[in-house]
Amino acid sequence: MTVPSSTAQSEALFARAKAVTPGGVNSPVRAFKSVGGVPRFIAEAHGAYLTDVDGQRYVDYLGSWGPMILGHDHPAVRAAIADTLTRGTSFGAPSPLEVELAELVTQITGAGKVRFVNSGTEATMSALRLSRGFTGRDYILKFRGNYHGHADGLLVEAGSGLMTNAEGQLGAAAPSSAGVPEAYAHLTLVAEYNDPEALDALMAGRGHEIAAVIFEPVVGNSGVLIPTPEFLAALHRVKDHGAVLIADEVMTGFRLSLSGATGLLGLRPDLSTWGKIIGGGLPVGAYGGRAEIMDYVSPQGPVYQAGTLSGNPLAMAAGLATLQQLQADPEIYTRLENYTTALAQGLKAAAQAAGVPLTVNHIGSMLTAFFHPGPEIRNYTQAAPSNTKIFAAWFQALLAQGIYWAPSQFESVFISNAHSDAELNATLGAAHIAFKNVSGGVNQ
Ligand SMILES: *Cc1c(COP(=O)(O)O)cnc(C)c1O
Repeated sequence: MTVPSSTAQSEALFARAKAVTPGGVNSPVRAFKSVGGVPRFIAEAHGAYLTDVDGQRYVDYLGSWGPMILGHDHPAVRAAIADTLTRGTSFGAPSPLEVELAELVTQITGAGKVRFVNSGTEATMSALRLSRGFTGRDYILKFRGNYHGHADGLLVEAGSGLMTNAEGQLGAAAPSSAGVPEAYAHLTLVAEYNDPEALDALMAGRGHEIAAVIFEPVVGNSGVLIPTPEFLAALHRVKDHGAVLIADEVMTGFRLSLSGATGLLGLRPDLSTWGKIIGGGLPVGAYGGRAEIMDYVSPQGPVYQAGTLSGNPLAMAAGLATLQQLQADPEIYTRLENYTTALAQGLKAAAQAAGVPLTVNHIGSMLTAFFHPGPEIRNYTQAAPSNTKIFAAWFQALLAQGIYWAPSQFESVFISNAHSDAELNATLGAAHIAFKNVSGGVNQ
């Protein structure tokens, strides 16, 4: 049942934050703009739970947007950070944990070489510069609704009327942020996800100009979208045109399997980018892949890329401890998937009982419940007409019952190894009530 709870402390902090930080947050989706209400300021997190500054406890489905696959405050990760902390926090010279994590990542993923940076944004930005340096070409190709961080050339998607047409010709892609020069946007081509014919046609026409094709191997950033085998085959064909194929595994890496979406789906990318889980909750990103491409990175090669805090010992320790836990317990991925499948089935049943149209996409420990009749949602264009108003009301009804869902219709939720039957049952009980609450709005 609905728990009467105060948001007074969160409201007070939000007011102070808005005076000194744009929108009161350091990353936009935290502001609850698409669901309304007061963003909860979090005081602490343990296992599957967040506790806000007003003392309200929530089952956490954010997982910090992906990193917390082991749950919050995992003892092994905490111990690794604490132990490393006794020896200093940053050296500006190479240190042993960087080598250890690089060895583990290359072993797990099959990448020839890897370079650590501080965020997913830095990883994709660097991988694209590397691809341009390696191929001597300027254009890149991305897919509509795929998010690769906030570098200029990646904040581009084609608006309606600018999409690839049947002949594979492109209009000028439009920046999706102010401050991105048209000249940058011009170098980013955009195609529809899960449309192999359009991709083939585009590569036939422009392939010789394209340095890299970057994609989310399972999309999380338009809500969960699962690639078709035909689309994955078309992605691999871009290599025939000399373009570098970049799997952006910042979200899916070490989550969909130990070797990410690449392992799960049998991908053969030239380069991959990682973030989130690879830092175990501390700020880390990485890019890696074929050694002959990676050797173009400075100081080995001519493509410059550097970082004062890159390979930071605390961050390396957290990432290493997280990956070691995952490697030691391969059953974890089966448990995560079982929970997620049960959650999907329970949500669908509860929505149906309440007469609310719902399409649930899920894979591994990622899930999106689209307030959309479906039957299929395969790309951003299909996802976009989802009923965001009903979603917002449903989100608030869950939050009031102590379930913290992702505060946007077009995001994935993340299940952690700390989620058990107790959290599943609590979630489905709350969802049942939430669907009933919103069912009146469905036909308006
Ligand atoms: C989160 C994310 C990024 C950006 O990572 P940051 O660490 O937020 O800069 C890039 N690509 C994908 C697929 C992501 O999910």
